Amino acid sequence: MLKLIPALSDYDDGNGVCRYLKNNLCDIYKDRPLICNVEAMYTAFFKDAMDEDTFIRENLNACLKLSKQFGDKKNQHRLKQLMLRKDLI
Ligand code: SF4
Repeated sequence: MLKLIPALSDYDDGNGVCRYLKNNLCDIYKDRPLICNVEAMYTAFFKDAMDEDTFIRENLNACLKLSKQFGDKKNQHRLKQLMLRKDLI
């Protein structure tokens, strides 16, 4: 799946999973690329186009669609719970 994202294609471990994903956590979280940092991406590129809640909702919806297509049901459940907690659905 990562190969579908040009900015992250070098991060693909060969199975479509990021090589920095360890035990379901980002191993380079503090130094993750800009595209992986939702808040930084919003500030850098989207703050003039939409409010932050809309941006976060759109990101979570995209994650949910990708998870339905490529991921597992546990991730889908976690994403839905996160969206409910943040009152985004
Ligand atoms: S957040 Fe970390 S684990 Fe996830 S894709 Fe980005 S670099 Fe990889």
